[in-house]
Amino acid sequence: MTPPALPPPVPEDVIQAALRLQGPAHRTPVLRSGTADRLLHAHLFFKCENLQRAGSFKFRGAFNTLSQFTPEQRRHGVLAFSAGNHAQAIALAARLLDMPVLIVMPEDAPASKMAATREYGAQVVTYNRYTEDREAISQRIAQERGMTLVGPSEHPHVIAGQGTAALELFEEVPRLDYLFVGVGGGGLMAGSLLAAQARAPQCQVVGVEPEAANDAQQSLRSGHIVRIATPRTIADGAQAQSLGPLVFDIVRRQGHDITTTSDLHLMQAMRFFAERMKIVVEPTGALAFAGAQHGGVDIRGKRVGIVISGGNVDLARYARFLAD
Ligand SMILES: *Cc1c(COP(=O)(O)O)cnc(C)c1O
Repeated sequence: MTPPALPPPVPEDVIQAALRLQGPAHRTPVLRSGTADRLLHAHLFFKCENLQRAGSFKFRGAFNTLSQFTPEQRRHGVLAFSAGNHAQAIALAARLLDMPVLIVMPEDAPASKMAATREYGAQVVTYNRYTEDREAISQRIAQERGMTLVGPSEHPHVIAGQGTAALELFEEVPRLDYLFVGVGGGGLMAGSLLAAQARAPQCQVVGVEPEAANDAQQSLRSGHIVRIATPRTIADGAQAQSLGPLVFDIVRRQGHDITTTSDLHLMQAMRFFAERMKIVVEPTGALAFAGAQHGGVDIRGKRVGIVISGGNVDLARYARFLAD
């Protein structure tokens, strides 16, 4: 079942999404750190989406999307393919809205991730990532069961939902000069740009990609969507190979800039968060801070928002990053 095409999201959609999320989502805290301010010679405001429900901002886009399903869509439920935060976000949002949910995951996904997704009430279907095509599998199941497939970024309601983290930050912290956000599929950046249009037009939104996964930077600079091979980086939530057309259009129209950071700097940022700020941040969640520190943007003396986008990391892996 193909739902009717939706118009691209506008700033007002982020404001509406924020109303829908009042209650179901946490209004996450904004932390400060004197040490970080001294280190970067700026006034930093950390929006802690690692403390969001299901551990990342992805819950915002998932809930905003599922809560606007038609009764027919609700009855048949939702399907997503992901081994990461999107899967957990969709599973939790579906449970809260009491609809069937199926997640397609690689059979070698971390057992902890699979268990967490099942705990949220999702049915998990596995596939072999070397021999099978997850999109084809997902589409076949969606068709057979009448389920609606929801991707992690290329959807107007997902983008509007992701923008609500920045919207909350702009409402709580006036006069920000910069906002740094991590970039994978670009839903978070596109939503943050719309939020800035609504509440902080003076604020420059800067996307941060892993060095090895700089497809969005290349796309922005060349003016067309650039596709890359699956990149190698510890930032597993930012391994998208390209932006989709909906996201690219928003980022190109208003998009300010995209910078990059290395895996080494991501590890240092994770360590900083653990040691100085006492918070658990996953590698992808550290992109914005590492980018603000090392991405070559002159933020000295400025008021700077940093979206800490997620905190889901396998503990054994996390311990290795901290020890290295
Ligand atoms: C998905 C994700 C991102 C990237 O968001 P996009 O909307 O795909 O650009 C960044 N950080 C975390 C923790 C994520 O889960």
